[in-house]
Amino acid sequence: MSSGIYLHIPFCRSRCSYCDFATDVYKSAEIVESYVSAIAKEIENFPASPAADTIYFGGGTPSLLTAAQLEKILEAIHKKFPIDPGAEVTMEMNPATVTLETLKAYKSLGVNRASFGAQTLDDTELRRLGRKHTAADVRETIELLRRAGFDNVSFDLIAGLPRQTLKDWERNLTEALKLQPEHLSLYLLEIHQSTPLAEQIRNGRQPLPDEELAAAMYELLLEKISAENYRQYEISNFCQPDYESRHNSKYWTLHPVFGFGCSAHSFDGAANRYANERDTARYVSLIEKENSAIVCRETIDVASEFVFLGLRLTKGVDLDEYENRFGINLTGKYAEELKRLQDLGLIEYAENHLRLTGKGFLFSNEVFAVFV
Ligand code: SF4
Repeated sequence: MSSGIYLHIPFCRSRCSYCDFATDVYKSAEIVESYVSAIAKEIENFPASPAADTIYFGGGTPSLLTAAQLEKILEAIHKKFPIDPGAEVTMEMNPATVTLETLKAYKSLGVNRASFGAQTLDDTELRRLGRKHTAADVRETIELLRRAGFDNVSFDLIAGLPRQTLKDWERNLTEALKLQPEHLSLYLLEIHQSTPLAEQIRNGRQPLPDEELAAAMYELLLEKISAENYRQYEISNFCQPDYESRHNSKYWTLHPVFGFGCSAHSFDGAANRYANERDTARYVSLIEKENSAIVCRETIDVASEFVFLGLRLTKGVDLDEYENRFGINLTGKYAEELKRLQDLGLIEYAENHLRLTGKGFLFSNEVFAVFV
C-alpha cells in the first residue's frame, strides 16, 4: 500500500474572513526560509522510509514558496522516501500569486497537478469573503497554468456564500464549467466560530447561511455537472474521467499519509493518527530543539472510519473488503440502523457496496453519525 506525503505551507498574503486553517500572514522571506529548513529537517528525521506515490503541498498558499524553497523540500523528500516515478505531485495555489515563470519552475521540479482556491467567480462575493483576487485572476491563473504545461488542474468553489442566491450560484457554476478544469471541488460554506465571518454574522452585518438554499444549490450542482463530462466520485469532488485526486483518495480509503509542517496530520495505515503543533513559530522551534513537533497522538477505530470515510465516495463501502479486513459482517452488525436509513432513502446497496443515495449525500451527517 503506497503512502502519500503531505506538506503544510501555512503562509498567505492575507487572511480570508471565513478561514480557520492553520495559516499565517506572510511577513518576511526569512520566516519562510526558516520554516522551509524546519520542514526539511523534520523529513530528514522521519524514522521510516515507506514508498510513496503522491506528494501534496497544501496550505495556506504553497505558491508563495520560491522555486528554490520548493526544491529544498522536494530534495529532502526524495532523499528519504522511495517516490514512484509516476507520482502525483499537487501544489495548492492562489490566483494572483503565480507568474508563468514560477509555474514553469514548479513544473520542472516535478509538480504535475495544480489545485487552487477560486471560491467564486463573482467579484462582489470574493470581496465579501475577504479574498484578494478577482474573477479575472482566476481565468488568468488557468490560462497561465495551461501555458506552463499543466494538464491536471483543479479548483475549489464554495456555495452558500452570504447573500448568494440560487441564480448567483448557477452563474458561478456555468462560468466554472466553461474553464474546463480536469477536477472540481465544491463545498458548502461552513461557519467557524473564531473567524471574522462568524463575528459579522453575530453582529448582523452578514446573514446566516440558509440551509434549504444550500441544499438546493447542491442539487443544482449535481444536475448541472452531470450534463458535462464530469462525474462525482466523492461528496464534494468531481472530475473528468481518470482525474480523481489520488492523494485525497488515500484519506478516504485509509491509506497511510505522512504529514510534515505545522498542523500536519499523519496516519500510519494501521490505527495510529498523530498531529503536529499548529502554531508556525512554535513548530519551527520544536523542530529546531527537539526534532519533532508531534503534540497529539490517537488510536482510531479503523473499522468505523473505513465505513464513515468510504461512504463519502460515490462507489461506497465494499462489503466484502470490510468483512475480510475486520472479520465482521457490516450489514449484520448495523442491521437495525441500516434498515432505518434505507427506509429513509438515505442509503442503498449496489454490487455488494453500501453507498449513499443522492438524498443521502444531502443528509450525509445523519448517516455518518451511525458509524462515528
Ligand atoms: S487563502 Fe486559503 S488558506 Fe489562506 S487565508 Fe484564505 S482560505 Fe485560508
